[in-house]
Amino acid sequence: MAACAARAIFWPDVEACEAECIRPRGHGGAHEDDVLGEWTDDELPTTYPDE
Ligand SMILES: [Zn+2]
Repeated sequence: MAACAARAIFWPDVEACEAECIRPRGHGGAHEDDVLGEWTDDELPTTYPDE
């Protein structure tokens, strides 16, 4: 199953850590990066990979 692979930047003004979602494509709720943890589209600007 393909990963969601949505990306977001955590703490853009400080460390600018790039998160990439490891959950399956089409999942509901929050995205999750294995290091940085969870985020939602409402919390952080989120980009999705091009098909
Ligand atoms: Zn996701």
